[in-house]
Amino acid sequence: MNSKDRKKKILLLPGDGIGPEVFAPVMKILEHIVKTGQIALEWEEGLIGGIATDRTGYPLPPETLEKADRSDAVLLGAVGGPKYDTLPYDKRPERALLGIREHLGVFANLRPARLFPELAASSTLKPEVISDLDLIVVRELTGGIYFGKPRGIFEESGVRRGVNTETYTEPEIVRILRVAFDLARKRRKRVTSVDKANVLESSALWREVAVSVHKDYPDVELSHMYVDNAAMQLVRNPKQFDVLVTGNLFGDILSDEAAQLTGSIGMLASASIGGKTGLYEPIHGSAPDIAGKDMANPLAMILSLALLFRYSLDREDLAENIESAARTVLKDGVRTVDIQGKGTKKIVGTREMGERVFSALSKS
Ligand code: NAD
Repeated sequence: MNSKDRKKKILLLPGDGIGPEVFAPVMKILEHIVKTGQIALEWEEGLIGGIATDRTGYPLPPETLEKADRSDAVLLGAVGGPKYDTLPYDKRPERALLGIREHLGVFANLRPARLFPELAASSTLKPEVISDLDLIVVRELTGGIYFGKPRGIFEESGVRRGVNTETYTEPEIVRILRVAFDLARKRRKRVTSVDKANVLESSALWREVAVSVHKDYPDVELSHMYVDNAAMQLVRNPKQFDVLVTGNLFGDILSDEAAQLTGSIGMLASASIGGKTGLYEPIHGSAPDIAGKDMANPLAMILSLALLFRYSLDREDLAENIESAARTVLKDGVRTVDIQGKGTKKIVGTREMGERVFSALSKS
């Protein structure tokens, strides 16, 4: 049997807070796509985050990793909540995020920031600055200061010192740059590499390696930008960017900034790739302030499913169907609270937004 025809398997990890709420429409969409014979797919559910700590004592139980290993892709909701904030670091739900990314070896996090024209008025920037925005942040995910050693809080002569280490090896830089250049080839062929090479040695190496990898991609334009300037340019003229590639810490910050350009954190999906199994998740957290209130925007979660079909299951058609169903609903003026603004005809909750997208999809 051709691997394309093999029944695919995915792992679903709803997690905490609004995670299970925004997951509900995803389940319905999956059931529909499978029932109508559009793909041979099966799934199982697993535990991650606070709920996993509550039930097993660990935020990332070994069983979840075993399930992930036998899956083609993992779809994750969100983790965390105030209840877990006082736990020791290794028991915190957020450690599970770093752990699963590291386990799966997904070193490249793709965060597309595409503005649905219907939402131009929801952004805090002027519509002419952001209309037709379509950029993608490629963030290195398994290296840099979030993983570098030494790390910790040390005491010397009665003075405490917090330490983290920014570190990148040449192979780590090469592989993330390749992801960015390959992606740019399918887009507008422009890569901006973001660093702080004027101050940091790890960035100086990053820049040197970027120039060298670029030699294999003469058809793609490469430019370099310091991170402070990139942060400014993202709000000044974001349409100048096509693919932005950067390290873990800078990428974490810049991708949230890019998220705001599109109106709401509730709209942005992400894909983490590079290993055998891809990981797909909205960029928002568990939003404890609105959890259980039927207020969360489920679109980032639904659009994460679209990315899963695109990058892990090679089903661009299914990805586009989902994206276009979301767009239809926005065109109809239906909005969750976070994206209300000009063009809003009806404000709905999580459940109704999910229903609307499902209905648009099942009619298409
Ligand atoms: P958050 O993303 O959960 O919330 C930030 C703000 O955005 C809140 O006002 C929230 O109500 C709003 N928001 C988030 N998602 C939304 C949605 N889908 N629809 C409408 N509004 C939405 O970030 P935070 O408040 O910094 O963190 C809350 C918890 O989530 C913490 O425990 C944090 O560690 C965790 N967290 C988890 C992830 C993840 O699972 N990937 C990411 C970030 C934060």
